[in-house]
Amino acid sequence: MQEKGTISIHTENIFPIIKKFLYSDNEIFLRELVSNAVDATQKIKRLASLGQYNGEVGEPLVEVSFDETAKTITISDNGLGMTADEIKKYINQIAFSGATEFMEKFKEANDANEIIGRFGLGFYSAFMVADQVEIQTLSYQDGAEPARWICDGSTEFEISEGSRTTRGTDIILHVNAESEEFLDKSRLQQILDKYAKFLPVPIKFGERTDSVPDGEDEEGKPKYMDVQSDNIINETNPIWTKAPSELKDEDYLSFYKELYPFSEDPLFWIHLNVDYPFNLTGVLYFPKVKNDFDFQRNKIKLFSRQVFITDEVKDIVPEFLMLLHGVIDSPDIPLNVSRSFLQADSNVKKINTYITRKVADKLNDLFKADRKAYEEKWNDIGLFVKYGYVSDEKFSEKAKDFVLLTNTAKETFTLNEYKEKVEPVQTDKDGQLVYIYTNDPDKQDTFIQSAGKKGYDVLLMNSPIDNHFVSHLEQKLEKTSLKRVDADVADKLIKKDDAPATVLTDEQVTQVKAVFEKAITKPNYKVELESLNPEELPVTVTMDEFMRRMKDMAAMGGGGGMGFYGNFPDSYKVVVNGNHKLITRILETGDEATQSQLAKQAFDLALLSQGLLTGAELTEFVNRSVNLI
Ligand code: ADP
Repeated sequence: MQEKGTISIHTENIFPIIKKFLYSDNEIFLRELVSNAVDATQKIKRLASLGQYNGEVGEPLVEVSFDETAKTITISDNGLGMTADEIKKYINQIAFSGATEFMEKFKEANDANEIIGRFGLGFYSAFMVADQVEIQTLSYQDGAEPARWICDGSTEFEISEGSRTTRGTDIILHVNAESEEFLDKSRLQQILDKYAKFLPVPIKFGERTDSVPDGEDEEGKPKYMDVQSDNIINETNPIWTKAPSELKDEDYLSFYKELYPFSEDPLFWIHLNVDYPFNLTGVLYFPKVKNDFDFQRNKIKLFSRQVFITDEVKDIVPEFLMLLHGVIDSPDIPLNVSRSFLQADSNVKKINTYITRKVADKLNDLFKADRKAYEEKWNDIGLFVKYGYVSDEKFSEKAKDFVLLTNTAKETFTLNEYKEKVEPVQTDKDGQLVYIYTNDPDKQDTFIQSAGKKGYDVLLMNSPIDNHFVSHLEQKLEKTSLKRVDADVADKLIKKDDAPATVLTDEQVTQVKAVFEKAITKPNYKVELESLNPEELPVTVTMDEFMRRMKDMAAMGGGGGMGFYGNFPDSYKVVVNGNHKLITRILETGDEATQSQLAKQAFDLALLSQGLLTGAELTEFVNRSVNLI
């Protein structure tokens, strides 16, 4: 029995096109062939359970082996096998409606995955690395004959009697010259680790070198060595397939170590498990991150029925949770379609919402169950929570109960607690609550101390996300505004009716102002006289909250990239405290040089206290100070 035929697609030489097009992703041939083999072993089990197969099912097994000398890679399974007719039906008729459609579509496709999934070309991905592919198979059906199919990647194939004696299928790839990298143990191991590590059927992997000469046998024929080093390389029941009740903390931790061998233990994890309205299982871990934006994204692995698909889970996992680690397994995520399709997919949207809700609930539980432990972890989880709070409306609705504020005394508060704490002292004359914060407690220490003297609390906002967090708090909280502690002198941070009266006459104000304006030669520093508490510093340099935020936005590339904010100059206010003794002294001494020196000295001290005095100006200040003492 031998038969030749033509694979039924209408365009000649489609394989060279596929091959070339798919070249960059060619390692996925192994994923496709191994998952076909796994499917075949699962199908026979199913047939047996349905009573459609009465033979021995045996333990399912898939074997991947390679032979460097013969230049072959073989994927064998003890699955249901195929008859010659089935080969013709399933392999020869490529599962898509027509070559024309394929030709149209592949032009838009972005990667191999897209084509393979869309057109059921899984098997044909073998031609990315092989110039000849052979199938040896024996079907489970009563009286089935072994069949062999061979094809060289053109549209010509050949079917003949096969040599397989046990049920199942061997796919033998005769690796092409450009793909010899795959005839390497560590390379294949690496691909299997990536895609097959958690497949539900045991995968054996080893080198099979039966072509190494090994003397002669009794009849004088050359003997060959049969070198095998097989190992089961996968874990068929990874933890996400188990019920949470079966698992202990150690199981979650050791799985984490397995996925990310060099990471510190995670803070906690969430076991995902849904079957309606979509199917999804998985475990998401909150990693311990350093408090900067230098962490690793793309640490969540996406599986479909235990076959690894990708670690780009954008769109499926909400943006603010991209920093989580772990696995998600769902047969309901369309894995092989374009990004834009994925974004519009309703399952993907539901999955996204589900994950957000689960994470919020878990955080809420942790907070409620053990606030102290939660606070201890706040340093690490705060970043996620704040990121979610500013970027995800649904999450922020829940997070308002467990997002924490920390003050300079390292005390933590919920939003409600903080409001209650500061309301009595930090409400301004118009009934507006003013929260005061610092982004750099060392640099802004003078201001923090002054605010403290007035009984104000100062929040710590020094993480990378806090810029956004501050403006979101302002949007979300009623009648509340936030001011950085150096946005104004302490007396003016919160507008009250009890401003101290000025001791200066209008004429004196003009006079003092003139002295300072003359003494301060730095551009963009605007002098203003205020009547502050005499205990406050004589001179304070501040930057208006609004101006500073504009500048911050420009620095972060705001203004739609139009350079709109880019032109904001530094603009500082030099607040001269008219009630301070020094000002009286300046007025009393008639000597212009002394006046100027005193003004300069006071101004430099203000700059110094904020780390704004550097370089030649600092040197000049030091010299002047030495002269003065
Ligand atoms: P898909 O797997 O998406 O259907 P493939 O091109 O990978 O597309 O495979 C086509 C068909 O060939 C499969 O659906 C299956 O019926 C058959 N097949 C492929 N590999 C095997 C195998 N190892 N054992 C039995 N049947 C197989």
